[in-house]
Amino acid sequence: MDRIEVIKFGGSSLASVEHMRRASRIVLERRRSCGRVVVVVSAMGSRTNELLDLAYAAAAHPDERELDVIASSGEVVSAALFATLLRHQGQPARSVTAHRSGIATSAEHGNARIEDIDCGHLNSLLDDGVVPVVAGFQGLGPDGEVTTIGRGGSDTTAAALGHALRAAECLIYTDVPGIFTTDPRICPQARVLARVHYEEILELAALGARVIHPRAVEFAGKNRLLLRVLSTAEPERPGTVITFAKEDSMDQPAVTGIAYNVEEAKITLREVPDKPGIAASLFAGVAAKGIDVDMIVQNTAADKQADISFTVHRSQLRKALAAAEEIGAELKAKAVEATEGIAKISLVGAGMRGHAGIASRMFQTLAEAKVNILMISTSEIKVSVIIDLDKAELAVRKLHKAFGLDAEAEDGVIAPARAKA
Ligand code: ADP
Ligand code: ASP
Ligand code: MG
Repeated sequence: MDRIEVIKFGGSSLASVEHMRRASRIVLERRRSCGRVVVVVSAMGSRTNELLDLAYAAAAHPDERELDVIASSGEVVSAALFATLLRHQGQPARSVTAHRSGIATSAEHGNARIEDIDCGHLNSLLDDGVVPVVAGFQGLGPDGEVTTIGRGGSDTTAAALGHALRAAECLIYTDVPGIFTTDPRICPQARVLARVHYEEILELAALGARVIHPRAVEFAGKNRLLLRVLSTAEPERPGTVITFAKEDSMDQPAVTGIAYNVEEAKITLREVPDKPGIAASLFAGVAAKGIDVDMIVQNTAADKQADISFTVHRSQLRKALAAAEEIGAELKAKAVEATEGIAKISLVGAGMRGHAGIASRMFQTLAEAKVNILMISTSEIKVSVIIDLDKAELAVRKLHKAFGLDAEAEDGVIAPARAKA
């Protein structure tokens, strides 16, 4: 049987018909060398945002079903244009939207989960020598209605199809030449990683590195699907391979990458009583409203009063603040404050298991840069801090240097330098 590849292009790689034409040449080339290819496309450029703006201009609280029909239409246009470009170059191709892709999802509009894929239609196109161009980000819910699978979800469409079609590899083409040690837009010294363990990229993605969606990595990890991140503009570069091979943590750098997330907001309840049950009632009330809390810090003062701070996604700030004010009044909090002026900076590395002192070196570096730490959380392979938003880019650059991640050469793919633990 021929090798199958799933090839996904993100919005920035499809910003115009000219961009699409360039991307279509990659598909023709891969088809020549690999045999069977399935393309997955995102909406063009920032089309999804524009479509959502239109929906919210029509109504403050648009119907969820209609919102998904509107949002998913960006990928429908991309798929049909891309198939048209392939056909124009003599390659039989067919756009495939939610109604024919066989992707069955859960019912939650806006954030549905892919539950099952029936590859019958896609396989019959492949058998006929046709390149299917699948509209990413969408599926059909149990009631046959179109759903979308969360922002950035086309990566997940590609990974899920890769597994269902038993693809040899899933290639994610984007606007940077691979996964970097940190976002190259804010740290010019960032370097492309030739390989990264899926456990590390799962953390980096979940902590804010936009380059690949965490659910796509989760999917690939569970199913041992080979994923590669590559550049649409420079397809000859090798990109980054996501690996599953375990390495000895003593041989690894302590820190592989740094994630930067400016999508969280912080709520603080001032001077609540410092006694058992206070945190329990606060967070039970917040959870009851369906709000996900990320970090929590409680500072106890001498006079039996405590300040409790927690972070939530910015999109949930208004709801979380309303819940905190309600519970704050019951707990007789002196004040309830909210701010969006924060950033979360996270160091990630499977090699942390073999190195002591990573957190203390992080705090020392931030102190030298006069960056105040507001919150801290750690796990086996990451250390995260919340700091003021206006210090975020400086902090990333200082940490990148301090942990030996800065580029040593002008160009080229270099393995990350070993941290001096
Ligand atoms: P696409 O439109 O292809 O889905 P995204 O904008 O979702 O692309 O993701 C690519 C962007 O992710 C890059 O332009 C880069 O600014 C950002 N990014 C954040 N962290 C990283 C990282 N560690 N490596 C590479 N890119 C990163
Ligand atoms: N177009 C969708 C979004 O902007 C999905 C994607 O690009 O992956 O979120
Ligand atoms: Mg993306």
